[in-house]
Amino acid sequence: MAMRKCLIIGAGLAGATAARLLAEKGDTVHVIEKQPHVGGNCYDGMSQAGVIIHKYGPHIFHTNMTEVWDFCQRFADFNFYQHRVMSYVDGQLLPFPINRDTICQLFGIDIGIREIEGFLADEVARSTYKNPPENFRDAVISQVGTYLYEKFFHNYTRKQWAAEPESLSAEIAGRIPIRYNRDNRYFTDLYQGLPIGGYTHMIKNMLDHPSITLELNADYFLARSEYDKPGKYDLKVYTGKLDSYFDEAYGRLDYRSVKFDFRYLDQKQFQPAAVVNYPNDYAFTRITEFKHMTNEQSDKTALCIEYPSADGVPSYVVLNQENIGKRQAYFDHVHDLEEQGGTLFVGRLAEYRYYNMDQVIASVMKKLK
Ligand code: UDP
Repeated sequence: MAMRKCLIIGAGLAGATAARLLAEKGDTVHVIEKQPHVGGNCYDGMSQAGVIIHKYGPHIFHTNMTEVWDFCQRFADFNFYQHRVMSYVDGQLLPFPINRDTICQLFGIDIGIREIEGFLADEVARSTYKNPPENFRDAVISQVGTYLYEKFFHNYTRKQWAAEPESLSAEIAGRIPIRYNRDNRYFTDLYQGLPIGGYTHMIKNMLDHPSITLELNADYFLARSEYDKPGKYDLKVYTGKLDSYFDEAYGRLDYRSVKFDFRYLDQKQFQPAAVVNYPNDYAFTRITEFKHMTNEQSDKTALCIEYPSADGVPSYVVLNQENIGKRQAYFDHVHDLEEQGGTLFVGRLAEYRYYNMDQVIASVMKKLK
């Protein structure tokens, strides 16, 4: 195929992956990014505490897809970090997701891993929920019962989404496993780690190709008629908000944001794990202490306290029935445009999916095949 001229809208993980794959196919790629930096919500950098911080909250790369992992390895070396999270419940720090040790510590009992499944089945049996589960609440209760749901999930979810858990998709519950063993890792994927030097460093390396040009501080919507001029580009890859592309033609989609409160302390360590969740206390959802993830040595430490918010940089899609319904209307339109061949929609915001980083890369790979 002859060399195409491509425009990539957004220099986050989706945009950078698309740019790289197209450039390697022999296309010429121009990337525009409205922020003054690349990386999108993976943006990170060195902090005053001498450790790398993630400017849009903690990002841990994990995947079972060898093709995706191998692709990332080309642009950064990864460390061997295995993510661990604790949850602050009833004044105790407990391992999360729920596993055998969580249950034993919370209930003050000592049962073996062979007894956990039965224990949880009893909890579920005395709970009321709709089966098969059709929302977040029922999906969690069907696995652990009401008691554990109330302790770990109910209030966290209300804070995170400013919505009742009954109104949210069961799909969200699928992100959190329930373990009958003592594995206290957050993810058990085949591959896991953080790019040494940071995500921004990795994404810059992806964009470092003779056929890729990058323009920062360039907002597509401020010069749309210019970028959309017939014949100017053969292919556009859009990674921004799905509804914005269509001027909200099928209604406004909700995107959830987070206000990040970064703190720098003159102490070596603040908490025993990279992330501590606070389901029932405080207005924030969780505190991240970054040095656990990178194993950087410093006498200081950097924290990020997260306050979910309706406004700010869009970080999450809100999977309730209304948005999922609107998304379908947009998808039909997207499908037509993608079939015509001139436009692709990739990434969390443009596909309106609660993607992890590896799923973003996999989606780009699939759409560019
Ligand atoms: N969740 C919860 N309690 C927790 C952690 C997560 O109820 O301690 C729920 C909550 O609804 C959250 C969802 O599970 O939004 C997904 O959690 P995850 O850790 O994957 O969120 P992310 O890291 O994407 O913000």
